[in-house]
Amino acid sequence: MAKRIGILGGTFDPVHIGHLRSALEVAESLGLDELRLIPSARPPHRGEPQVRAADRLAMAEQAVAGMALLQVDDRELKRDKPSYSIDTLESLRAELAADDQLFLLLGWDAFCGLPSWHRWQELLQHCHILVLQRPDADSEAPEALQNLLAARSISDPLSLSGPSGQISFIWQTPLAVSASQIRALLANGQSVRFLVPDAVLAYIHAHGLYRGAN
Ligand code: ATP
Repeated sequence: MAKRIGILGGTFDPVHIGHLRSALEVAESLGLDELRLIPSARPPHRGEPQVRAADRLAMAEQAVAGMALLQVDDRELKRDKPSYSIDTLESLRAELAADDQLFLLLGWDAFCGLPSWHRWQELLQHCHILVLQRPDADSEAPEALQNLLAARSISDPLSLSGPSGQISFIWQTPLAVSASQIRALLANGQSVRFLVPDAVLAYIHAHGLYRGAN
């Protein structure tokens, strides 16, 4: 049987309940076999993460411990290069059976920025793209993506077929939590209890993370 694997990249600085609920809901609603959180080393599109890769990885691993459906994949942290999604997809593909299905999860904003990604036109050779869309979003996709959407998008994400090549949308109300909010609270000496899993909270405190300015 072909496996169905979702991937969610991010800095996870730190991982929080917004990432985790969203990942779990997608994995369950699409009947995925696993959904991998892939922490990025040096994200090409943003500044350096505030804490070390080893800490971001450890927090992500602790966050999903005991949840077989959610996994953490550290391949981007092992590469001494910017974290380009195309490289990650090629390396994942090299480990999978030809008919395994890969689903790249992208928020609407990230999806709209796709044309600036390294070798973006090759992404769909390796995966399907699942755009996480907010019910209240109303913006139009940029011109550069219109043809791609017309050719590749299908309305029902459950109908994505084959190993790669299609785009679909999942409508999801995200929890109003962000890693920047969490870093700001911690820098200010405030609690982030209930915004991150308890194991992540314990790790942050045990290692004295995010106490400085952010
Ligand atoms: P920051 O505040 O530092 O920008 P972040 O909270 O957005 O961080 P990232 O690590 O950049 O976290 O996010 C990784 C992925 O998770 C991105 O695709 C992002 O859109 C998504 N994501 C972030 N926050 C949420 C949330 N509250 N609900 C659902 N998805 C989220």
